[in-house]
Amino acid sequence: MDIGFIGLGVMGAPMAGHLAAAGHRIRTSLNRAPLPQGLAAEVLPDPAAVAAASEAVILMLPDTPDVVRVLTGPRGVIGGLRPGALVIDMSTIDPGETRRLAAAVREAGGAFLDAPVSGGEVGARNATLTIMVGGAPADFERALPLFRTLGRNITLVGETSGAGQTCKLANQIVVALTIEAVAEALVFAARAGCDPARVRAALMGGFAASRVLEVHGERMIARRFEPGFRIRLHQKDLGLALGAARALGLALPATAAAQELFSACHALGLADADHSALVRVIETLAGRTLAGQAPAG
Ligand code: NAD
Repeated sequence: MDIGFIGLGVMGAPMAGHLAAAGHRIRTSLNRAPLPQGLAAEVLPDPAAVAAASEAVILMLPDTPDVVRVLTGPRGVIGGLRPGALVIDMSTIDPGETRRLAAAVREAGGAFLDAPVSGGEVGARNATLTIMVGGAPADFERALPLFRTLGRNITLVGETSGAGQTCKLANQIVVALTIEAVAEALVFAARAGCDPARVRAALMGGFAASRVLEVHGERMIARRFEPGFRIRLHQKDLGLALGAARALGLALPATAAAQELFSACHALGLADADHSALVRVIETLAGRTLAGQAPAG
């Protein structure tokens, strides 16, 4: 297929690489970052030119305003869209704005799927992403061969645009609250005199076992806070979840508390650290690190 792929960062670069390796022709437009090394892609001047050359345009951009700009801004995707072309937004953005963007794409004669992902950089590199999709079943079927090149657990969550984004935000609530729970549990156990590494190993065999305890728990103990998934991006996602909940008249009290703890991470200079660095805030509140020292800063 002729595929446009815009947003070649941590996630997008390996994803576009898999599509190129599967034999698709990749075209892109860049803002500031250069073309990732080794990626077989043609660079065109702007998103409209990319769309004019593509049967499907995939977006993997940081945040809602970026997707709005690339789709609907001057020389945006919509300005060059081929009739019947498929726009697939794999970024994590606002579900409400997604519905408006989907309507704009349909108005321009295209089809739209929101298809955010979970699985992180490792999932992008290994083509094992979880993909959560909102949109029409016929469009989902068209996109399925592309999704199968990028991931494994692929679900059409709902036929309404934004359903994939809502599912992704639910995912981010579970992950944030689980990171918070793991951080509290390890700090508690360490302060009570237990070795947090042994506590983690013991818990991995029981009902408290989880991917977060396994991966993020290990990072907390090994003090490996390079991203991974940046606190800044997780805050964006919890902000989207809290905004969507407010629009529904819904309280998410523990999500709001996790967001405040991420804000405290900002204050400690950790906005670009991995989200497992949330433990640093819990350690600061405890007055002791997992290793029993006074917290720095
Ligand atoms: P990133 O910042 O590494 O990459 C974004 C890329 O988009 C950058 O290369 C940037 O230059 C490019 N870009 C921005 N505006 C552009 C424009 N106007 N034209 C062309 N390119 C433009 O971010 P990422 O970590 O790859 O995340 C992308 C999305 O995926 C985000 O919505 C994020 O929440 C989501 N996500 C990330 C992860 C993760 O572990 N990093 C996991 C799941 C989902």
